[in-house]
Amino acid sequence: MLHLFAMLAAVLMTTPMLPRTHTVTPLPRFLTPPVSREILDPEDGSLTYGPYGQVWRVPMQRREIALTFDDGPYPFYTPLLLHVLERSGVPATFFIVGRSAQEFPALVRRIVVGGNELGDHTFNHYTLTGLSDYQIAYQIAAGGAFLQQFTGQPVTLFRPPHGRYNQHVVAIAHTLGFKTIFWSDSPDDVKNISPDIVVSRVLYYARPGAIVLMHSGQYKTIEALPEIIYRLRAAGYSFVTVSQLLRDGNYDQPAQWPIKP
Ligand SMILES: [Zn+2]
Repeated sequence: MLHLFAMLAAVLMTTPMLPRTHTVTPLPRFLTPPVSREILDPEDGSLTYGPYGQVWRVPMQRREIALTFDDGPYPFYTPLLLHVLERSGVPATFFIVGRSAQEFPALVRRIVVGGNELGDHTFNHYTLTGLSDYQIAYQIAAGGAFLQQFTGQPVTLFRPPHGRYNQHVVAIAHTLGFKTIFWSDSPDDVKNISPDIVVSRVLYYARPGAIVLMHSGQYKTIEALPEIIYRLRAAGYSFVTVSQLLRDGNYDQPAQWPIKP
């Protein structure tokens, strides 16, 4: 019996507590959208902006592109990835899991010191569509609040785990002051594919204002990255953080493009 108590105490002592620097109750009424439609690119009908602050791609003329990396930080992969980015002078946006940031804070500091941007990928990386509104709000708010200590200012970008979302998720994020950042270009690098395929898929979907989703815990992606950077630069692209992309694309005054019925 004593042994059992000792085990329980050990588990409790090593289980990290959630940060308590935020409050999310009582919840406001989320679900009345300001506009119930999405703004489409007139050329190909692809998604750009959504009514709850969602962003798939930033419509723009100039050849800017934002590399984004989900998950982590990871003790092995993140320093390698940062090395490639720093050597190339490329800033990126890292969607960080609060729980992992709590475990490896020095890596989060290195990401920030390297001139990269942090985005909120929730505190525990649960699939949000299976949670209650309160739990969704808590996961988003706790992740953002934890990352704020590294940035010194509120984190405003959010990406749902596994890209899984519904109207509740994006509306709650919007209410909490986050833009939900999706992507327009992804090599699907969580699958078992070669670095060459990672490169060719990223290049295939690249276009001005694109947001590229990759994963920081994939060695093949880190292997592919120098070639991706070299080829995109050769095609005239420059690399910016997601916030910079939004500023350069005048996100606050979106073009009056066709809206999805
Ligand atoms: Zn993720």
